[in-house]
Amino acid sequence: MSSNDLTTNKRPSETNQKWNAVADPCVHCGFCLPTCASYRVLGTEMDSPRGRIHTLKAIENGEIKLDSTVTSHFDTCLGCFACVTACPSGVRYDQIIEAARPLLNQPGLRTPCDNFFRALLLKLLPYPQRLRAVLQTVRAYSGSTIQDVARGLGIIRLFGPQIEAMEALLPTLSKESFKDSFPIINRAHGETRGRVGLVLGCVQRCFDPSVNQATIAVLQANGWEVIIPKNQGCCGAVAHHQGQMEQTKLLAKELIKSFSSVIRENLPAEEKPLEAVLVAASGCGHTMKAFKAITENEESFDAPVFDVHEFLFQKGLSSSFHKTLKPLLHKDGTPSNSHNPISVVYHDACHMIHGQGISKEPRQLLQKIPHLIIKEVQEPGVCCGSAGIYNLVQPKEAAELGQIKTKDLTGTGAEIILSANIGCTLQIRRHINKNLLVAHPMQILAQSAGLH
Ligand code: SF4
Ligand code: SF4
Repeated sequence: MSSNDLTTNKRPSETNQKWNAVADPCVHCGFCLPTCASYRVLGTEMDSPRGRIHTLKAIENGEIKLDSTVTSHFDTCLGCFACVTACPSGVRYDQIIEAARPLLNQPGLRTPCDNFFRALLLKLLPYPQRLRAVLQTVRAYSGSTIQDVARGLGIIRLFGPQIEAMEALLPTLSKESFKDSFPIINRAHGETRGRVGLVLGCVQRCFDPSVNQATIAVLQANGWEVIIPKNQGCCGAVAHHQGQMEQTKLLAKELIKSFSSVIRENLPAEEKPLEAVLVAASGCGHTMKAFKAITENEESFDAPVFDVHEFLFQKGLSSSFHKTLKPLLHKDGTPSNSHNPISVVYHDACHMIHGQGISKEPRQLLQKIPHLIIKEVQEPGVCCGSAGIYNLVQPKEAAELGQIKTKDLTGTGAEIILSANIGCTLQIRRHINKNLLVAHPMQILAQSAGLH
């Protein structure tokens, strides 16, 4: 299947042959089933990768129609791609589901209520200004005693499962949640190694702005100048995940344009513009790496896209930064040492481990921190249930997955949970004991270097 197929809204009859070609290597062995998050919580073949592949073939053969029941079984898929990693036959289920999703958006396949809710989320989440306007209305409520009381009494449940899920994910909002205060040019500290661009992520900049602050500080301290277009929008990951390809394409083009204009207007023409475009949210990184396909080869960044961990791992931490890394403090304020190291557990976000093949890079960067040990979960490949807007549109299954994941994470006994994707971070925070810190690896590196 060519990458272009991911950007079209073709009818099933036009894509069938291609589905068949991609699905053909499937030998129905079922090795993918234990890793599949939807199969894990629903336990039905129709909600497994093998079942969905079989369904698509049956549609192709005219045995069944793409109707609301079939759609509901595709909607339970989280798009986590664990099945791709698990498949010994190399079936690219990621390409199958990405090509199928636009078809599920046809009228009449979902309930009007479901369509309305999805449309509302897609009109809100990828647009930071709109999202901020809505968040202003709940600013006083977030993190307040009223919120604790409302949650304690279960009042939010009265508004329905979707609103309950949205409220449960709402973090405490700070003033930084409402404004991007970074300069366009953030100079490197010490000897300059080069210049990179940074995509802030629309949900990340509103719901956990300190992640971008820490990322910029770590990059600067490692000798990288960081360029941040002020008017940058969303990368389109949320729309991409929902198969809304026209919206994704528009958002991708706008983001690329914001970087080219800022480079043209602010940087000397004779200098190399950017070494790389970076991002500290793996859901965004996965979509940004597919921009060429998404824009149908019309546009792409002038520099390669990297997850920030991937980039720093490849380039290496600078020796001056390395020297600044100090042991972290335990929760009781005592410094970690060789007799009493601090333990962390790193959560592998699906779009990082399965989508981009990145798992050792964040761990190896973290291991540079003195007296830090990394614990491992039992099931690193299983999705936490966040998956774009999945935890809002499929709240029941997502909550079950959230509980499975947090049990696995806390079972390690680690003092800090690390997550490099904002969606996963919010999902884990929702289901975890409030006393446990859930942070981004960049925040921990920045803290160890005394930058944050
Ligand atoms: S997708 Fe791969 S792992 Fe799953 S049943 Fe088919 S061949 Fe087996
Ligand atoms: S993408 Fe994830 S949820 Fe969907 S079929 Fe594959 S493993 Fe299951």
